[in-house]
Amino acid sequence: MKKYVYCILMVTMLLTVACRSASINPKPNSKTVVARHGKLRVSGTALVDAHADTLALHGVSLGWHNWWPRFYTAETINWLKKDWNVQVVRAAIGVEPDQAYLQNPEAALKQLYAVVDAAIAAGVYVIVDWHAHHLHTQQAKEFFRTVAHKYGRYPNVIYEIFNEPMETSWEEIQAYAKEVIPVIRAIDPDNIILVGCPNWDQDIHLVADNPIEGFSNLMYTVHFYAGTHKQFLRDRAEYALAKGIPIFVSECAGMNADGDGPIDQKEWTIWKEWMAQHQISWIAWSIADKNESCSMIADQQVPANGWSDKQLKPWGKMVRQDLKTINK
Ligand code: MG
Repeated sequence: MKKYVYCILMVTMLLTVACRSASINPKPNSKTVVARHGKLRVSGTALVDAHADTLALHGVSLGWHNWWPRFYTAETINWLKKDWNVQVVRAAIGVEPDQAYLQNPEAALKQLYAVVDAAIAAGVYVIVDWHAHHLHTQQAKEFFRTVAHKYGRYPNVIYEIFNEPMETSWEEIQAYAKEVIPVIRAIDPDNIILVGCPNWDQDIHLVADNPIEGFSNLMYTVHFYAGTHKQFLRDRAEYALAKGIPIFVSECAGMNADGDGPIDQKEWTIWKEWMAQHQISWIAWSIADKNESCSMIADQQVPANGWSDKQLKPWGKMVRQDLKTINK
């Protein structure tokens, strides 16, 4: 009888050891950010992962697809993941300018697909950004229907339905959102949807007083350029957070609101600490080679990936260092 008990004990111990070693030896791809966190959702004001843990994502936005198509490739996305530790990339699908979505939807979708496919393969999150400044409701519905059909089943994808409203009231944005969101939800019931707010995503207090009702997994975007937007915007965002509004900073940078001028290091640091304190995700603008301080790539002669320090502008070097520090 004793022998029998001893045998059972031995088998149990061996099984325990075997199970433990299986769980501490994950498959290679389980190290990607999407494999670790999986499907995202919103709980209260927080972004939470598949294990119900709060998380904040940090990454970069590509520049407008119609002006900087050369960065809309798997090679660029893979480099940003490997060398910058991005957890999320944003595909800024231009809508209004010449040769952007309204004029050439086929080219826009082709570039978008290259980025989203690369993000899925690399295991990073990806924001599909309708990079518009004005309402184009029918075209947006068609665009998001197409994207949700193609990618709605992937945990990687986040929809951003209106980049920066310029002259659209919160009531008009709400009416637009109530048309676009059901189109996405009919196909994809759960991925995160980001909604913009008036005045280049600064009037978040208007959202706080009158949020959109009836949909889950919505977050609202705040955009800031630290040289211009300072404590007043953090005050508005805190007012919104206190009223239960989930915030995602889907675009930010350290210089003036026109994307140029000197980097305000002090204010950028205050913003970073504020976002960390509130566990707010942020995306830095942008991977582009324009002659302006917010475009992170030095110039047009620099290749589309594999950058050395010299091939990045000061803002690019700063963001890369921040991401490498924050995204473990
Ligand atoms: Mg889904």
